[in-house]
Amino acid sequence: MSWNQQIGKKFNKQQILNYIFSKRIVSRGEIIEEIGLKKATVANLVTELIEDRLIVEDGKDFSTGGRRSRLLRFNETAGFALGIDIGVNYLYGAVFNLKGEIVFDNLQLVPTIQLDAYLKSILDLIKLLMENVPPSPFSIVGLGVAVPGSVNKDGVIIIAPNLRWENFDISSYLRDHFDFPIYISNEANAGAYAEYIFENNKETSNLLYLSIGIGLGVGIIIDHNIYLGVNGYSGESGHAIIHMNGRKCTCGRNGCWEAYASEYALIHDATYMLKERELTLEQIITLAEEGNEDVIQLFKETGYYIGLGITNLIQTFNPEKIIIGNRIIKAQKFIEQSILDTIHSNTMHFQRDNYSVQFSKLKDRAIALGAASFIIDQFIQLPFD
Ligand SMILES: [Zn+2]
Repeated sequence: MSWNQQIGKKFNKQQILNYIFSKRIVSRGEIIEEIGLKKATVANLVTELIEDRLIVEDGKDFSTGGRRSRLLRFNETAGFALGIDIGVNYLYGAVFNLKGEIVFDNLQLVPTIQLDAYLKSILDLIKLLMENVPPSPFSIVGLGVAVPGSVNKDGVIIIAPNLRWENFDISSYLRDHFDFPIYISNEANAGAYAEYIFENNKETSNLLYLSIGIGLGVGIIIDHNIYLGVNGYSGESGHAIIHMNGRKCTCGRNGCWEAYASEYALIHDATYMLKERELTLEQIITLAEEGNEDVIQLFKETGYYIGLGITNLIQTFNPEKIIIGNRIIKAQKFIEQSILDTIHSNTMHFQRDNYSVQFSKLKDRAIALGAASFIIDQFIQLPFD
């Protein structure tokens, strides 16, 4: 086979794999029609993909009426991806099959943000995940790590203010320990990507995902693509200033949105108001559930600030969907109405029919799932190399 033919064959095989991966289950006839390849070419390449164990035959195709060939399904257990969500006060990791389904996961609270100790927890978690990967043809296809901070395109954490990590090359650090592909992303971008693929089935072209935990970040999908900005630092809206000379933020400046609209803000205010030692989000929610009016009012205020920032994002992006995710969704019933009312009364009339605000249905899995999805996408594009 000539070099040109080899390139052509690889390209065709890749196209068929991409198509089956995106559709999950297809007939040979659909591949011929959609990709425009000859029947014999498709038959040969499909046989190869089955031998590669990237696809499997599954069920009967009843659509053609003639001789019934079997349908083809992407083999979601051809390999497994690891996804890690580095929170500020938690660390979550999961093993996902190639369809994004969890086969094992682990959530732990991390008592320290001190880099060396935190890194040890991350390494231990990765080893735990590796031990729980089922046997498969491609084994571990890679590790996606989502970080609450600005990450450049080389996987270097430029700054993660709430962890107080700066200029840390986490990508190289992890590569020294593991030999599978590793991709580092910002947590909000990862969350947005997971919502886009798994909850919205790639149908929502313009979507914003708000990751609200100790900090606040925004993942931006524009025209079906993640918007990263020139260096990869997009979506740091948590540090958009909403108050002149306002509260001190962990980034060192004053009046940032996340200083008013985050788990950190809630903890700070509740602790101050109740003169308690530092409370957790769960404890504050319990107080609201017990009917503590001051705490209920505090959630309303946090909802007001979240809504105010979302209003600014609506003015900027005209998004179809805004999805609120990460730990704050535990407080949904105490903040939702206040968020919606604030947006309604601060947007202009022509904007009001065009957006929807939702709370993440992927819940605490979204960020790790998105991180792993970047790796799964890379694998699907390069399994023959
Ligand atoms: Zn800030």
